Amino acid sequence: MNSVKEYIEQHKDRFVEELFSLIRIPSISSESEHKGDMQRCAERWCQLLKEAGADHAEIIATTGNPLVYGEKIIDPAKKTVLVYGHYDVMPVTPLELWETEPFEPVIKDGKIWARGADDDKGQSFMQAKAFETMVSLDKLPCNVKFLLEGEEEIGSPALKEWIQEPAHKQKVKADVILVSDTDMVSAEVPSITTGLRGLVKFEMRLTGPDHDLHSGDFGGTVSNPINVLSEMIGTVLDKRGHITIPGFYDDVLTCSPEERELINRAPYSDEAYKKSVGVEVLHGEEGYTTLERIGIRPTFDVCGIQGGYSGEGFKTIIPSVAWAKLSFRLVASQDPKRIARLVENYFRSICPESVKIEFTFYEKGMPYICPIDLPEYKAAEKAMQDTYGIQPIPAHSGCSISIVSDFEQELGLKSILLGFGLGADNIHAPNENYRLDRFYKGIETAVAFFQHYAED
Ligand SMILES: [Zn+2]
Repeated sequence: MNSVKEYIEQHKDRFVEELFSLIRIPSISSESEHKGDMQRCAERWCQLLKEAGADHAEIIATTGNPLVYGEKIIDPAKKTVLVYGHYDVMPVTPLELWETEPFEPVIKDGKIWARGADDDKGQSFMQAKAFETMVSLDKLPCNVKFLLEGEEEIGSPALKEWIQEPAHKQKVKADVILVSDTDMVSAEVPSITTGLRGLVKFEMRLTGPDHDLHSGDFGGTVSNPINVLSEMIGTVLDKRGHITIPGFYDDVLTCSPEERELINRAPYSDEAYKKSVGVEVLHGEEGYTTLERIGIRPTFDVCGIQGGYSGEGFKTIIPSVAWAKLSFRLVASQDPKRIARLVENYFRSICPESVKIEFTFYEKGMPYICPIDLPEYKAAEKAMQDTYGIQPIPAHSGCSISIVSDFEQELGLKSILLGFGLGADNIHAPNENYRLDRFYKGIETAVAFFQHYAED
């Protein structure tokens, strides 16, 4: 591996300069004034892929921002890794909270400070430089395809549409997907993200009388929608923090004792956690630790609730309507469409005839799981062991990267989430930063991944 380290060392300043050329393009996907920047950023990526050693690279127009595709096929009989990343970034407001210009990267205290330094320009560019390193040293052991999109921060709508075409599926056909767009649990404890939660969110609206009624004249004769709503919501969780909806847990995969033990190796303290969220007592599903509750168990939450009179003083009424915004975080292999159906049927079944019930569902997300006995996971584990000197732990994130589950659905491929970010990198926030040593270590680890992956 020494020659890899040497190559990175020899070229490290150029690597950073090239990354800066991507960062300087303000590719904010959620702001339409940056439409031209999206195209410019895609073009720059395309050029950098060619310079890194791709035999072919192109920009692909979509219904939204363009995709960047590049490939090097050394032997069609060999395995193929599809590297996914995104070149779009989050908005930078409020600007006054930035200590340096968000799109003029600077190096200070061993870190790159800029929007996209980590998420995901810095992280995805590590993959491009790992690729260059392998091509230059004649160490590329398998085929590589790159796919970069410009809409991850707004839910990947164009890519989700594009990937459904059979010809496009064929174009990105591979054996595994490699993604650097996640965090490690800490700088000292390397980890690989093995789980992402899914999501079902909706609004439930109850209507009683067609206008607010005087609670003296009418109280006791009609249903009060807020009373009913509270009662219905109150049945979802039992005293053990278990969701009571019939069939809800049918498809929840249970983690092996070995994996639960590994998850709980992450640096964590109840006291520090309580302090960080400002509570004196933690609460959750019985029989699971906090890390397990976040990562491997589904949850139910009322995100908002409204109805009746909440202004100054008091108004004695039976309100006409009441509604709540409800969310269920899901884990593998719960299908959000099935859960949405179960939940709606459940609430309809317990709703009294004296009120009218309506549902509005929002976008649903699939959960994702990467089994730790998967050969591709083992290759990533060995790669991190090589560069960090200790075995990485599998980490379940409570959040979602919806395109990862879409890839699994549409391409039938698992993704290896080999990320090197940290909570302290301020992604999506002012003063985003990324440590240079993690940038170089990420390149080295990605090279090691390819070598181990090709050996198996
Ligand atoms: Zn990202």
